[in-house]
Amino acid sequence: MRPKLLMIVPVPLAGLWLPFLEKAPIDVVVQDRDAYAPASIDYALSFRPPHGLLKTLPNLKTIFSLGAGVDGFLSDPDLPKQIPLVRFVDDQLSTEMAQYVVLHVLMQHRQQRAFDRAQQESRWAQALLPRKTEDTRIGILGLGEIGTVAGARLRELGFPVAGWSRTRKTAPGIESYAGDSEFEAFLGQSDFLICLLPLTGETRGILNARTFAMLPQGAYVINAARGGHLIEDDLVAALDSGHLAGATLDVFQTEPLPKESPIWQHPKIVATPHIAAISDPRVAANFVTDGIARAERGERHPNTVDVARGY
Ligand code: NAP
Repeated sequence: MRPKLLMIVPVPLAGLWLPFLEKAPIDVVVQDRDAYAPASIDYALSFRPPHGLLKTLPNLKTIFSLGAGVDGFLSDPDLPKQIPLVRFVDDQLSTEMAQYVVLHVLMQHRQQRAFDRAQQESRWAQALLPRKTEDTRIGILGLGEIGTVAGARLRELGFPVAGWSRTRKTAPGIESYAGDSEFEAFLGQSDFLICLLPLTGETRGILNARTFAMLPQGAYVINAARGGHLIEDDLVAALDSGHLAGATLDVFQTEPLPKESPIWQHPKIVATPHIAAISDPRVAANFVTDGIARAERGERHPNTVDVARGY
């Protein structure tokens, strides 16, 4: 019998993946579109499944996450934790995330927004000089798949780069800080603080007033990980006090960002609508069909999430 995959995605979006999934030797059903017997489902894919749904599937063999982050699964109190949860890891996704980070570091470093304003005022602003690159220290929270690539690209541009992770790293040219005991020292040398952490019980709210106070005066914060990492009111306060120079945010506590949020109009914030990197449907579909083939052969997938650790 062919394995049966349940797609748990908004019905209008299912067509993004279906043409690629349907080429594989599997049967595909779409939640809220197709009738199915829960016991017939072998595999599920989603980004943020409705809480409680996965536990209704008694014969599930593997759950696939369409995103690199799995907080949308782990927040489900009824997640069947004994079923392997496999997350999407892709070189192109990491490259696009690194592009986003490099773009926003350079926009700030080269004062592009000030030049944009000067142009609007027909003003020749040649006196605006960039700080020296070798004196502009980058700190990356999370030196995993994405943080390592972003760090390498920034290093190539001449920035001193450090990263903070749970365990010590040996990425070439990147200074490694590890664990809570080295967090303060890491922050103290981060003129740019870039969050690329997974959202877990330990990292939720990590971008807060205390963290900002430990950054050098005039630091710039980039959050491209998850909205739950940032206490938005603390960021606005640190920007308004002048301690932080600015911030770029791709992710928010509530998405879409509510119209009344002060973030939209804040002069020191660049906000984008969770687009730092979008998983390519063709690549993601291949990742799922390859993952199903591995599971059918009884192999453990290398991207299996450690549910107890939270990422
Ligand atoms: P990853 O490979 O799992 O790397 C996670 C890194 O964070 C690892 O270096 C890990 O340390 C570190 N870490 C985790 N918990 C920690 C803690 N408590 N203290 C210190 N370090 C900790 O993840 P990834 O693939 O790079 O993805 C990172 C995140 O990016 C995802 O979870 C997702 O939320 C976000 N993302 C956002 C977008 C977007 O469009 N905005 C797109 C893709 C991904 P160890 O190495 O020591 O384990």
